[in-house]
Amino acid sequence: MPLRDQPPVQADVVIVGGGMVGATLALALSELPLQIVVLEGQSLKDICAPIPAATTVADFEPRVSALTEATRTLLDDLGVWDHLGQVRFCPYQHMRVWDAEGTGEVHFDAADLQLTRLGQIVENRVLNKALTETLLTRDNIQLLDAVHVKRWLPGPRGGVLSLDDGRSVCGDLVVGADGARSRVRQWAGLATREWDYDQQAIVCTVRCSESHQYTAWQRFMATGPLAFLPLATESGDNHFVSVVWSQDTDQALALAALDDTAFMASLGQALEWRLGAITEVSRRFLVPLRQRHAKDYVREHLALVGDAAHSIHPLAGQGVNLGFADVAVLADEIRRGHKRGLSPGDATVLGRYQRRRKGENLAMMAAMEGFKQLFGRDELPLRWLRNTGMRWLDRQGQLKNRIASEAMGLQRELPRFGAPRGPLDAGSNLARQSHS
Ligand SMILES: Cc1cc2nc3c(=O)[nH]c(=O)nc-3n(C[C@H](O)[C@H](O)[C@H](O)COP(=O)(O)OP(=O)(O)OC[C@H]3O[C@@H](n4cnc5c(N)ncnc54)[C@H](O)[C@@H]3O)c2cc1C
Repeated sequence: MPLRDQPPVQADVVIVGGGMVGATLALALSELPLQIVVLEGQSLKDICAPIPAATTVADFEPRVSALTEATRTLLDDLGVWDHLGQVRFCPYQHMRVWDAEGTGEVHFDAADLQLTRLGQIVENRVLNKALTETLLTRDNIQLLDAVHVKRWLPGPRGGVLSLDDGRSVCGDLVVGADGARSRVRQWAGLATREWDYDQQAIVCTVRCSESHQYTAWQRFMATGPLAFLPLATESGDNHFVSVVWSQDTDQALALAALDDTAFMASLGQALEWRLGAITEVSRRFLVPLRQRHAKDYVREHLALVGDAAHSIHPLAGQGVNLGFADVAVLADEIRRGHKRGLSPGDATVLGRYQRRRKGENLAMMAAMEGFKQLFGRDELPLRWLRNTGMRWLDRQGQLKNRIASEAMGLQRELPRFGAPRGPLDAGSNLARQSHS
């Protein structure tokens, strides 16, 4: 029978988008007796392709994520960490943040918090592969790969989703995990509030002449922040770094157009040669920077998670961590509802999810906006205030530790999933205690 003539695939929860956030939601829900369908545009063959050993800048995926300890605990609960392998994630023990216009600098050190690391840098494709491989081990998750959702027709329960291969899918709850330009959000008529920064991020991988020192480096310039994030290799080479250089659009276009030699010289200078010279650079990608927030994350039988609900400036590397927190809370509310006999798409369940997540996401977006404004100004009094403030903060042990643990997600009460495991190390142990 042709696919278009087959009856719709039936599920309790249909997740549009099997990226980092959508795949994690499927895993978190799989402990419940629910049928879950994940619809993903990329093919399984591409997502699960072997990752080549990294010996040059071209061997890394340019998109990386800085995972907080809260995220790591969630992924560990869901059994994903076992699929990640031991090599291609880089723990960092230090974070150095400084102002280009002055002498203010803050140094965060994991040792001050009695931890082994502040977070970990993972290439997105490494994490996506591990998530997908874990997902394939769950009996109640069906992954339809290499399919695009073309249309959503509202109807009873979650309506009907039409796929480009002719099939259709129905569920009690439809979840939009389809990224910043979410079609699900548009189809559902969920309006957004947006800020265009007229900035672009240049994203690439470089090799430096000096070790990255397992440190996340961030220099704030009036034109935008420059981040150097340490990368791991199979051979233990610690000279590879992922770069996110946010710049006003004109400047970003001009920099991205430079030849490799000139670009490496400009980049080395922008980081004040703290990691020596840049000796190798990958292809550069330009990503427009836009902060976007859906005014509502839910409507009848439909919810948004991750970038579909909110995309924020990458300056604090928090974007996907907020998405993982959405997942933990939505799955927790569905679990609570299930115990009370409510279906996943029940309005009470979805309303509680929105109430628990919107405030934190908005607060993080406001903080990013504040940082952007504070460091984007060049007036002398503001420069003085910034630098004096950074020097002062660097001497305040307790306050500094509080800020670091907030950024690491240790202050967040994320719900727990799966059978509790033994502590892995000091980092996750502390995260566990803070959740108990
Ligand atoms: C320059 C830059 C640097 C960043 N650095 C960090 C960082 O250090 N730390 C951090 O936490 N965050 C960072 N972020 C943010 C992070 O990348 C995003 O928050 C994250 O990718 C969002 O994940 P997601 O799963 O919600 O969406 P996506 O990653 O966009 O995934 C969406 C998925 O849905 C699929 N899809 C979309 N439409 C359809 C459709 N119609 N049918 C079927 N499938 C569909 C896509 O194929 C994709 O797999 C950064 C962002 C940028 C731009």
